[in-house]
Amino acid sequence: MQPVNQSRKDGQNQRTDLKALSRTQLQELLVGMGQPAFRAKQIDSWIWEKGVSSFDQMTNLPKALRETLAEQYTLGGTSLVASQKSADGSKKYLLSFEDGTTVECVGMPTDKRLTVCASTQAGCGMGCAFCATGASGLTRSLTAGEIYDQVIHVRDDFGKRVTGVVLMGQGEPFANYDNTLAALRRLNAPDGMGIGARHLTVSTCGIIPMITRFSREPEQFTLAVSLHSAVQKTRDALMPGVKRYSLLRLYDAMGEYADRTGRRPTYEYALIKGVNDSDEELTYLCDFCRDTLCHVNIIQLNQVSGSKFQPASARRAEDFVRRLASVGVEATIRQSRGADIDAACGQLRQRLAQ
Ligand code: SAH
Ligand code: SF4
Repeated sequence: MQPVNQSRKDGQNQRTDLKALSRTQLQELLVGMGQPAFRAKQIDSWIWEKGVSSFDQMTNLPKALRETLAEQYTLGGTSLVASQKSADGSKKYLLSFEDGTTVECVGMPTDKRLTVCASTQAGCGMGCAFCATGASGLTRSLTAGEIYDQVIHVRDDFGKRVTGVVLMGQGEPFANYDNTLAALRRLNAPDGMGIGARHLTVSTCGIIPMITRFSREPEQFTLAVSLHSAVQKTRDALMPGVKRYSLLRLYDAMGEYADRTGRRPTYEYALIKGVNDSDEELTYLCDFCRDTLCHVNIIQLNQVSGSKFQPASARRAEDFVRRLASVGVEATIRQSRGADIDAACGQLRQRLAQ
């Protein structure tokens, strides 16, 4: 378990979030309080497995210990600011943390499954031109506990086991690498949420040194990369935050990722009318993906209020999938879920700020 490097204190009593402690730090704390070693395991299970929001719920701890802990520590947790339910059953939440910072997350149920889309930062500093989150800039990175707490919130609201998590909410996970990995590990752990690593997906705008680092992690987490254009000039204009990492370098880094892990990464490509949907763009995309291990997700652009970008037609999306298939590249059109509930992350937060 990697130590969580971002501990935050609440303003009034200077209490620390207990989720900011690593397992070892928690053990040390309890031993220091004269408690038997098994207490750490009990508390660990209450906060990560069961996800309780108060020390009083830790019924197998002595009352005096619960009171001492409550004086010095908090359990993080989230409070609901707003939510929207889609006709397709998915639900979007605007959650606030102890310091008032808000983030969005989404629960997407299907049959027996429940996938959560969670945020890794409040806002984002990457400035992608088509993204509602990018427009508002970065507020701050989230701790591992705060990333995890979003999943707990959705699980408890649906009353259902979470079967997958995609870090495709607000923020750039690889600009908050350590906390993202610590959260993924807790989501994966049998004494955490117990979600299989392959069902835990990180989406990055393409921060190359972190893609390389991610490829060396021992777990089989899934990687998605936001491509949006295989033409340098177009990509630079759409995604100025990753201008310094050329497509050529991205191509090489992804090749290394596939060689090292044997896993198939996904490229996300939101089709924007008149920007990245031309035949020339499609040819470049085919060339970028041909003969590589990858899957392309063609996404319908979610319209962001005040943005000049329009989604391309559904027929154009089908053209893309057909042409990619003709050169041996697997591609699908990602069903846009919750299109009626401001589903592009950042939209609900942006709307409430207006
Ligand atoms: N920062 C990461 C993850 C969060 S964004 C990243 O960029 O990959 C999650 C996905 O939503 C990314 O693929 C992003 O490009 C896409 N996205 C952002 N705004 C969108 C919009 N208006 N319509 C469709 N997809 C959008
Ligand atoms: Fe940040 Fe991803 Fe939005 Fe770009 S698309 S601004 S990287 S959240």
